[in-house]
Amino acid sequence: MKSRDEFIAVPKNTIQVLQKHGFQFKKQLGQNFLIDMHVLDKIIRAADIGPGDICLEIGPGIGSLTQALCEATLPAEAGDARPDDTVDGSVGEAVDAAVDAAADAGVASAGNDAIGHVYAVEIDDRLIPILQENLGDYPHLTILHTDFMKIDLPAFFEEQQISRPVKVVANLPYYITTPIIMALFESGVPLASVTVMVQEEVARRMQAKPGTKDYGALSLAVQYYAEPYIAAHVPPNCFMPRPNVGSAVIRLTRRSAPPVEVCDAHFMFKLIRAAFGQRRKTLVNSLAGSPELGSQVRLSNGRLIPLTKEVIQQALEKENLSPTIRGEALFLQDFAKLANNLTEQA
Ligand code: SAM
Repeated sequence: MKSRDEFIAVPKNTIQVLQKHGFQFKKQLGQNFLIDMHVLDKIIRAADIGPGDICLEIGPGIGSLTQALCEATLPAEAGDARPDDTVDGSVGEAVDAAVDAAADAGVASAGNDAIGHVYAVEIDDRLIPILQENLGDYPHLTILHTDFMKIDLPAFFEEQQISRPVKVVANLPYYITTPIIMALFESGVPLASVTVMVQEEVARRMQAKPGTKDYGALSLAVQYYAEPYIAAHVPPNCFMPRPNVGSAVIRLTRRSAPPVEVCDAHFMFKLIRAAFGQRRKTLVNSLAGSPELGSQVRLSNGRLIPLTKEVIQQALEKENLSPTIRGEALFLQDFAKLANNLTEQA
C-alpha cells in the first residue's frame, strides 16, 4: 500500500503537482481539489470500495480521489505490489498476473468479480497529461477526456462490457451536480451506489423529508431512485482553492425497485417539478397554472390529460387530500397516487 505522505491529496504534494505544471484553476469548471486525507478515507469508506469494484469518477482533477480509488480496487492478490514499492511497470505485471489467475479460475474477464476497474471522466484537456503522468502506472485505470454530460451511458457500459453494478464516486463540480446525478439514475445503467461530494445545502435537499424547507423536486427525484445518507460534513479548508460554502459527502444507495408504483414516472416527475415551481401556491393552483404543464399534458403513451382545477381537485379528493394542500406537504407516495389517478382519467 502507498504510504500516506505519498498521496496526491496531501497538501504539499498537490502544490508540487500544480506548480510543476503551472496549473491555473478554472472556476467555471468547479475546480476545487481535495487536499485532506481524512476526507479521502471517509469517501472511500462511505462508498465501500474494495478490490474488484468497478468505479466511475466524474472530474478526477489532478487525480487525488482517483489515486485512492485505484489503490482500493487493486486485486487482493497484488496487495504487496502496489505502485510505491514497484519499479518500471511491475504493478502492471502484478495486476496482469491476478487477471490471469482469475481467468484460470474460469471467470470471464468482462464482469469478473475479482477484477476492479476505475473509469475517470475529465473535461479539462490540461488535466489529462497530469493524470497520465501521476496515475499512468495503474493498469486498471481508464482516463476519458470528455464532458460527462455528453456520454451516452448505456452505450458506454455496453462498449466497456460493464455488466455488474458500478460504484460512482466523485467530488462533483458544483455547477452541474444535479444534472449529473439525474443523468446517472435516469440512464438506467447498473449502479450500486453514488457517493459524491456536493454543496452541503444540496446534500440536505437530497435527504429532506416533506414539510421541511429543504424538501423539493430534488429530494423526491433522488429518493425515488436511491436511499440517501450524509456520510460527512466537509469544511472549505479541505479544498484548494477554498469554496465559499461548506460541502458534504452523500451516499445514494440505488434501490432495487422504486418505493412506489407509478404508471408513468415521467408524468409524475412533471407534476412534481410543477408543484415545486411555485411552492407558495396550493398544489391545485401550481399544477393548473403551470407554464411547464399547460392546460393539457401528454403522457408517455401519447394520450392527453386536461389539467384543469376541477380535474386536479377531484383527483386530490379521491386520495383524501385537502384541496388546499401544498406540494411541500406531499410524500412521494402521494405524488405517485395523484399521477396514477390522473393517468386513469386520460
Ligand atoms: N476529483 C478531484 C478532487 O477531488 O480533487 C477534482 C474535483 S473538482 C471539484 C471537479 C472536477 O470536475 C474538475 O477537475 C473539473 O475540471 C471537472 N469537470 C467539470 N465539469 C465536468 C464535466 N462536465 N465533465 C467531466 N468533468 C468535469
